[in-house]
Amino acid sequence: MCNNTQHPIAIPMEDPIIHTDQHPFCAFDPFDDCPCHEDPILIDEVADQVTGGLLTPDEATRVVTGRQCR
Ligand SMILES: [Zn+2]
Repeated sequence: MCNNTQHPIAIPMEDPIIHTDQHPFCAFDPFDDCPCHEDPILIDEVADQVTGGLLTPDEATRVVTGRQCR
């Protein structure tokens, strides 16, 4: 008996969705499935940076959409 002709089960070894302290929003399309772009805690942090003058609103938008590290 040989079962090696079975298709191997694909197990993704690398999760392409990356969230770090420096880059809490992944670069995936904000309309994709990842909820980070709508996380109120993360968005609040970015909003605080806008309030504090660290980011412009445009930059904040880019951060939230994963197109810019903070
Ligand atoms: Zn994400």
